[in-house]
Amino acid sequence: MGSTTDLRDVYSYIDEHQGEYVGKLQRLLRQPSIAAQSLGMDEMATLVEQDLAELGTVPRRIGTRGGFPVVYAEFSGANNRTLSFYNHYDVQPADPLDEWESDPWSGEIRDGRIWARGVSDNKGNIAARLAAIDAWQKVRGSLPLNVKFIIEGEEEIGSPHLQNFADDHPELCQADACIWEFGGRDIDGRPQIHLGLKGICYVELRARGARTDWHSASATSVPNPAWRMVWALARLKGEDDRILIPGFYDKAVAPTQAELEALADLPDTEQERLDDLGIDRFINDLTGQELHLKDYFQPTCTISGLLSGYTEKGQKTVLPSQAMAKLDMRLVANQDPHEIYELLRKHLDANGFTDIESELIGAGYPARTSLEASIAKVVAETYEDVYGQVPAIYPTSAGSGPWYQLCDAFGIDACTAGVGHGRSQAHAPNENIFVEDFVLGIKHIAAIMDCFARR
Ligand SMILES: [Zn+2]
Repeated sequence: MGSTTDLRDVYSYIDEHQGEYVGKLQRLLRQPSIAAQSLGMDEMATLVEQDLAELGTVPRRIGTRGGFPVVYAEFSGANNRTLSFYNHYDVQPADPLDEWESDPWSGEIRDGRIWARGVSDNKGNIAARLAAIDAWQKVRGSLPLNVKFIIEGEEEIGSPHLQNFADDHPELCQADACIWEFGGRDIDGRPQIHLGLKGICYVELRARGARTDWHSASATSVPNPAWRMVWALARLKGEDDRILIPGFYDKAVAPTQAELEALADLPDTEQERLDDLGIDRFINDLTGQELHLKDYFQPTCTISGLLSGYTEKGQKTVLPSQAMAKLDMRLVANQDPHEIYELLRKHLDANGFTDIESELIGAGYPARTSLEASIAKVVAETYEDVYGQVPAIYPTSAGSGPWYQLCDAFGIDACTAGVGHGRSQAHAPNENIFVEDFVLGIKHIAAIMDCFARR
C-alpha cells in the first residue's frame, strides 16, 4: 500500500477532535432543510456558509434562476491541482415520523451510530469534508491542492435548477476531479466505489376516447382508450424483458474487460435483496454475473404508473374516456434521453398509435467515469489505506443525479466516497451512520487530497 504519504499527524488530530467534528455535524442535523416543503432552506445555507467561513474562505451564495441557491466556496492549496466536492444541503422529508426511534432532527447518538434525517444523505458527507479541511489546515497549514465546494439545495427534488448554475458559472465547475455526494460501505462492511449514474427518460402517455366517460353498453362501437393504451404498451417490451423499440439499445456501451472483472468481484447480496423485496426470484431467474450485467449495463423501460376508468370498490360499468401511463426509462452510458424519446415516438407511430399523445417530462443524461481514471484509483487506494479493505468497484450505480451536468459535460472524472453504509436508511425512517465511519470518512478525504495532489 502506502499510496499516501505519512498522514499520522493529520489522523491523530482527527481522532483527538472527533467530538468537536461530531458536534458540528449535529448542528447541521438539528436544522431541518426540506426543499420539497421550502422548510429551513435559508437557515441551512447560512449554517453551511458559517462552517465554510470558519475555515478561512469567503463562501458565495449563488442564485440558480428560480431555485434554491448553491453555496459555493474555494480554498487555494500548495499546487495547481483542483479537487471539487459536490454536495447538497437539502434533505428528504422525515415522515412517517412515528416510525422513528428518536427525533429525526436531534442527531441522537445511540449504539455507536448517529441518527437523523439527512445524516447519510448528505450532511454527514458535508461535515466530514469540512472536518478534513480543518484538520489539514490545523496540522499542516495550507491544503495540498485547491479545493472547491459546490453545495446545492435541490438534489432531493431532482436538481431542477442546477443546469442554470452550470450554464451561468462554468468556471466554478472546473476541476481536475470531483468527489460525488454519496458513498460508503456495503451491507457486509466493505467500502464501495461508484463510477457513474444512470440517465433517465421519463414520459407521460395519454390515450383519449369519447368526450366523457360513457355507459359501457356502448363499447360495441365506441373506442376504449384503456385498450389503446394497453395495446401500445404491449409493443414496448416482450415477455422476455427485451425492449422492442427499434434502435433503443444501439448506443448503449458494452462493458470493458476491466469492468467485467470489477463486476465479477462485487459482493453477492442476491438473497438479502430478494428477502428485502419479498420476491423469490429475479426477472428471467438472473443470478451472478448476468444479474450484475443487467443491473449496471442494461437500460430499462418501466411502467411506473397506469390510470384509467373505474378503480374503486365494486363495479361500475363504464367506458373510460381517457387512459394515462407513466414510463420511466433508466439509461446507460451514451444513451441520450432526447433521442430515446424520439425513438419511442417513432415506434408508436409506426405501429399505428399516432393517437397516443406523449410528453417527455424528465430527461437526465447517464454519467460514467473510467475505471482507469486517476481519481478512481486514488479513491480505491486510499480506501485500502484508511479502511484496510479493498473496495468493491461499481462501474455505475442504479440511481440518477446531476453527475453529467457538473462533471461529464466538463470532461471531469468523478467518484464516490462517503460515510454511509448498507443499512443507512437514506430517504427512510431511522437514517443513520456509524460514528466510526464518520471519523474514517474524514481521514479518507484527507488521504484523497494528499494522494490526488501528487498525481
Ligand atoms: Zn437522497
